[in-house]
Amino acid sequence: MAQRTAPTLPLALFSTDQLISEEDRAIRDTVRRFVADRITPHIADWYEAGTMPVRELAPELGQLGVLGMHLEGYGCAGTSATAYGLACMELEAGDSGLRSLVSVQGSLAMFAIWKHGSEEQKQEWLPRMAAGEAIGCFGLTEPDFGSNPAGMRTRAVREGADWVLTGNKMWITNGSIADVAVVWAQTEEGIRGFVVPTDTPGFSAPEIKKKLSLRASITSELVLDGVRLPDTAMLPGARGLSGPLSCLNEARFGIVFGSLGAARDCLETAISYAQEREIFDKPLAAYQLTQAKLADMTLELGKGMLLALQLGRLKDEGSLTADQVSLGKLNNVREAIAIAREARTILGAAGITLEYPVMRHANNLESVLTYEGTSEVHQLVIGQALTGQSAFR
Ligand SMILES: Cc1cc2nc3c(=O)[nH]c(=O)nc-3n(C[C@H](O)[C@H](O)[C@H](O)COP(=O)(O)OP(=O)(O)OC[C@H]3O[C@@H](n4cnc5c(N)ncnc54)[C@H](O)[C@@H]3O)c2cc1C
Repeated sequence: MAQRTAPTLPLALFSTDQLISEEDRAIRDTVRRFVADRITPHIADWYEAGTMPVRELAPELGQLGVLGMHLEGYGCAGTSATAYGLACMELEAGDSGLRSLVSVQGSLAMFAIWKHGSEEQKQEWLPRMAAGEAIGCFGLTEPDFGSNPAGMRTRAVREGADWVLTGNKMWITNGSIADVAVVWAQTEEGIRGFVVPTDTPGFSAPEIKKKLSLRASITSELVLDGVRLPDTAMLPGARGLSGPLSCLNEARFGIVFGSLGAARDCLETAISYAQEREIFDKPLAAYQLTQAKLADMTLELGKGMLLALQLGRLKDEGSLTADQVSLGKLNNVREAIAIAREARTILGAAGITLEYPVMRHANNLESVLTYEGTSEVHQLVIGQALTGQSAFR
């Protein structure tokens, strides 16, 4: 008779909790409970319907303290970067769409204003955004310029004391429900950022439909048709492409952890399914082929977690570089997709439905692989760091 012992959770095998402070673990556990109570019971229905009740959830996320949580002041929680990463992990274990909502709000829209904005802009927007009363979006990508945002065609021109913005942005998370859009545009002095209230005449944001990934997330086009803004709408601290890139780096850091949340949920689902499912008169979990899959997935999850925690430690001490964030984003999203696909095989036909989270995560991770710098872009960043040679063009 085969020997049986009590099963261990995948990350417990690595004892990674030892590397996390008590305070950060408490934050993580609070977010985990929120996701279990508020997201998990509904997410399959939201995903199927291709929607997410962002207006309803945003104040709850504000109360939870996760909107702009690693920023200081202006109603933000001011937690460690590691705590922010761990929160992203729990949110994305719920759904990548939920983590995207929080990333775009906190790391893209709020961070842009917090880092590059005037005192007036910060006072006007950040407290309401931290509370989830105002929703932000971040408009960088255009229909013809994704990986190469430097080529953007959206223009801001001076007309008297005003700025007039014209152009199109594409694939913008939360675009059609946002109260404020941070929009990047070419000016005579290079790329500059603008804080655009979405009720400004000439601004519209049609929603993009028929997505097969990140269905529980709102994705939109932004149309700027002669949007007239006062001089004070420009972000004074951001000049050139380094402005938007500084924000992307923040969001990418969250993805390093977040993607592992999706992977963890897939792996834990596969383990529990394999224990229950009887095939040829014994549990699927008792077959060597299944255990080899589970062991390999666990290794990649644990290695990704160690990498994420190391990057978290570097960020908390203020020395994390963009190249290092690329290492984490490339590895962890790529491995998370591999884990999701392998987990799906263990679930067989059941794995293709929304009864289980696995295929939903796998589909979501396709977007995560592409946004915030595609995997190829991160390979090129790492290649440049290793060789000193740029191979982007
Ligand atoms: C669901 C979703 C939400 C998004 N949310 C936002 C948002 O809120 N705000 C925002 O501004 N953007 C957002 N994006 C856009 C995202 O950042 C872009 O899709 C991404 O930058 C890639 O651009 P692209 O889709 O135009 O692909 P392209 O740039 O056209 O790339 C196509 C392929 O070419 C590859 N490639 C590019 N350059 C090279 C090279 N030098 N050598 C070899 N291969 C290369 C790419 O890696 C990719 O495989 C979102 C995207 C999605 C899917």
